[in-house]
Amino acid sequence: MKMTVLTLFPEMFEGLFSHSILHQAVEKGIVEYNVVNFRSYSTDRHQRVDDYPYGGGGGMVLTPQPLFDAVDDLRQKSEKKPKVILLCPQGETYSQKKAEELAEEEELILLCGHYEGYDERIREHLADEEISIGDYVLTGGEIGAMVVADSVTRLLSGALGNDQSAVTDSFSTGLLEYPHYTRPSDFRGMKVPDVLLSGHHANIESWRRRESLRRTWERRPDLLQNISLTEKEKDLLSSWNYPTK
Ligand code: SAM
Repeated sequence: MKMTVLTLFPEMFEGLFSHSILHQAVEKGIVEYNVVNFRSYSTDRHQRVDDYPYGGGGGMVLTPQPLFDAVDDLRQKSEKKPKVILLCPQGETYSQKKAEELAEEEELILLCGHYEGYDERIREHLADEEISIGDYVLTGGEIGAMVVADSVTRLLSGALGNDQSAVTDSFSTGLLEYPHYTRPSDFRGMKVPDVLLSGHHANIESWRRRESLRRTWERRPDLLQNISLTEKEKDLLSSWNYPTK
């Protein structure tokens, strides 16, 4: 996969892309990141990328020309059909499902806004999708683009040491993940559940599923509405007072 970030602050991405799993994914040839300052596409003689809003009001608005030219250029250079994503608090709220969907793409272009936001024509005619990372307003789209780049990269085959880890993660199964424990088995009197030390794989699996259900019921009962449950699991949830009927 190739991901290009169009931003006014490319330095912000240096740390993210040069450490840990994202850096290893680059080294393994799984992903290529390309961070471009779209100011370099401005045809304004002072390389301006923003202007005052028509109609007045506070804040500066990103002008269409630099971003349209940058995307046109990237599209021309690419043999694939890059998906253009606008980071924007008014977009679809980002989720693991969306990350899984984007991980199927061959190329992504992530547009980071700044100041008061984008000229509406960028939203209407340049972006394929708009993504918000939550109901709050950030100063720029960079942190959102990082969230997308990170969450998508770890889903690419081979990016994690063990591909299975992404499959059992919270939200991937529709539930929150079960609790984890590691050595020592007794830490200051806090013990690891016996079943995990038993070596009995079937019992461990069923304990994990049960704990996953319990955790989801306790913290995110809304998620239970979207998954299919066995009769036994429905009974279990009923015993915890979850209305399954
Ligand atoms: N005036 C805009 C509004 O009220 O919708 C907010 C603009 S915000 C200060 C500047 C930029 O930060 C946005 O254009 C967007 O790229 C980014 N941004 C802010 N909040 C975001 C969020 N929740 N998700 C994704 N991007 C966000």
